[in-house]
Amino acid sequence: MLKIGCHLSASAGYLAMGEAAKSIGANTFAFFTRNPRGGSAKAINEKDIARFLEFAEDNGISSLVAHSPYTLNPCSAKPELREFARRTMADDLARLEYTPGNFYNFHPGSHTGQGEDIGINQCADMLNSIITDEQSTTILIETMSGKGSEICGDFSHVSRIISMVERKDKIGVCLDTCHIWDAGYDIVNNLDGVISEFDKIIGLKNLKAIHLNDSLNQRGSHKDRHAKIGEGYIGKEALFQVINHEALCNLPFILETPNDMEGYKNEISILREAYLH
Ligand code: FE
Ligand code: FE
Ligand code: ZN
Repeated sequence: MLKIGCHLSASAGYLAMGEAAKSIGANTFAFFTRNPRGGSAKAINEKDIARFLEFAEDNGISSLVAHSPYTLNPCSAKPELREFARRTMADDLARLEYTPGNFYNFHPGSHTGQGEDIGINQCADMLNSIITDEQSTTILIETMSGKGSEICGDFSHVSRIISMVERKDKIGVCLDTCHIWDAGYDIVNNLDGVISEFDKIIGLKNLKAIHLNDSLNQRGSHKDRHAKIGEGYIGKEALFQVINHEALCNLPFILETPNDMEGYKNEISILREAYLH
């Protein structure tokens, strides 16, 4: 069965997210761990979480992909911004243990002029300083579009970060289809080639989740503007190939398309129909 969901608002708590997911035919979902701009996190409500865990179990909802605030920059030239990212992510990881065994994806950041080597090192250092032996959450590095001084618009950056992380069992990759297309990877005409390149450079065993998005821009644009499924330059057929690819078809797929709930419900049903496994 296709594991698919979308980004949901976390403001009404976990049980509300579970119910929202079910109402649109989703069996996984993503959410921001706190205000995406990086504000303080909501207090943990253990009762809400207990009810959610039971609801998720009963309804086959799993493989949650929590998303760190996208304004964090683990490889900023400013030490105070790197420290803020480190502290925020460490706090998120502690909170995510209330819903154990899921994923936490983050943007590896922009080197802001330091150069990609320094950025890659700082990102790996940050990960080594927050990963604990006890955590059950797998942290996922998101593949990026390479806009501005963003790192990880190239598979080799992701691979270098992973090679420097000490606890490799706690780290993986979230592949965003809009981002890698914008970064220049041709998933429309050569999906097999892109996947085998991913395997050669990063290793498919590290691939844990997919952000399934169309792109408003052409390949190599380095823009990062998501489009609805079938309304961008990647197109419906290529995204159908992504969900059906034998190396990807069992992963959780998260829609980050510009939709309301009705729109997500519609995309999920179209994708379920296109799923051949
Ligand atoms: Fe993201
Ligand atoms: Fe994404
Ligand atoms: Zn994006």
